[in-house]
Amino acid sequence: MKTLRLRPGKERSLLRRHPWIFESAIAKGGGDSGETVRVESGDGKFLAWAAFSPTSRIRARVWSFDESQRIDATFFVASCANAIRTRARFDLKSDGVRLIHGESDGLPGLIVDRYGDTLVAQFTSAGTERWKGVIADALLEQTGLAHLYERSDASVRALEGLEPATGWLRGGVAAAGKDAPPLELTIREHQWQLTLNIAEGHKTGFYLDQRDSRKRFADYVQRLNLRRVLNCFCYTGGFSVAALAGMAAAEQAGGQGGGEVVSIDSSGPALERARAHVSLNGFDPARAQFMDADVNASLREFLKDGKRFDAIVLDPPKFAPTAAHAERAARAYKDINRLALQLLSPGGVLFTFSCSGGISADLFHKIVASAGADAGVDGYILERLGGAQDHPMTLEFPEGEYLKGLVVMRKG
Ligand code: SAH
Repeated sequence: MKTLRLRPGKERSLLRRHPWIFESAIAKGGGDSGETVRVESGDGKFLAWAAFSPTSRIRARVWSFDESQRIDATFFVASCANAIRTRARFDLKSDGVRLIHGESDGLPGLIVDRYGDTLVAQFTSAGTERWKGVIADALLEQTGLAHLYERSDASVRALEGLEPATGWLRGGVAAAGKDAPPLELTIREHQWQLTLNIAEGHKTGFYLDQRDSRKRFADYVQRLNLRRVLNCFCYTGGFSVAALAGMAAAEQAGGQGGGEVVSIDSSGPALERARAHVSLNGFDPARAQFMDADVNASLREFLKDGKRFDAIVLDPPKFAPTAAHAERAARAYKDINRLALQLLSPGGVLFTFSCSGGISADLFHKIVASAGADAGVDGYILERLGGAQDHPMTLEFPEGEYLKGLVVMRKG
């Protein structure tokens, strides 16, 4: 068994059950890519079993803190079973579910999403790459499903020295007389139908983490009768559909009719799908406008034209993947938030998000506050939002809190 000896005093985070071992903490030892190593303190005491990543700054990721645990097929079956069983205890209003969320589920570098009867997995660490076949079998066994697609094309794989890998991992070959499984899928989220393509969509095809915030947005649009809605970084229009649903519900309840959603994204295919989602869900296409444009430039245009909105969503891509990018990212977040707050009508509501691991909830709050100060806009923070429960945060891994949001109501 290969070992990894830490430098004296470097065991502290492991004793708190944090699963990462940085290159700088290591005195000696190592293994092959993804190989299981015994991690020891400077004085030789057992700390953890971990997967070695020869090229990453995160040089090893912990599988278990239990010395008697064997890291073998049985371990992966049990870990997958635990994560999947836990999902049944979460409050998930969709048949698109994140079954395994990496470190939070004790499986660093593994993401598994279930879309109806199809599984999509992303292997982003040397350890999960090494155990890929075993994990794939465990997933099928524990879900009873047959189709597993791989989307290991996240850029972080390069840090692990791994090439991108995509395609069917299990159940992709057409059985005799049967068609190959579809890449194009439909899920039901709350009362909405949403489509995705597991080969071409972002991440594993869809942003499942925003499920609850979309519903929350629909609730606000309905309750406050918000009629001029702007959805920035709309991707395939999840928040746009939510807004239209909120408007429809308000009308049914006797609220004022009318209302329009403007959605902006710079991806043509995403916009096409967003547009299709409007009619798929039975809403009037005339009430949804889609713009293939840069959000920053569009917000400036709107201001120049004196436009105002009653509800705005800002859900940008990851501006700061790590803390090292935080400063530049903070400026970018502040810019769009300042513009959005200026565009918001008095009493209007901003749903603003950051999915950057490098921006803490506290820092994000400060950024939005300082955007408000620059905009000369006062606001109430009505709610703090986070990722849906199937993207869990855990006590021991604070980095799991990557998605944070604020609901701000403009005073006036
Ligand atoms: N809110 C979406 C997810 C947003 S993901 C949902 O609920 O599904 C971020 C989106 O921002 C992507 O679709 C990407 O195409 C888009 N994007 C990135 N940079 C952009 C820019 N400068 N202007 C407009 N859209 C941008």
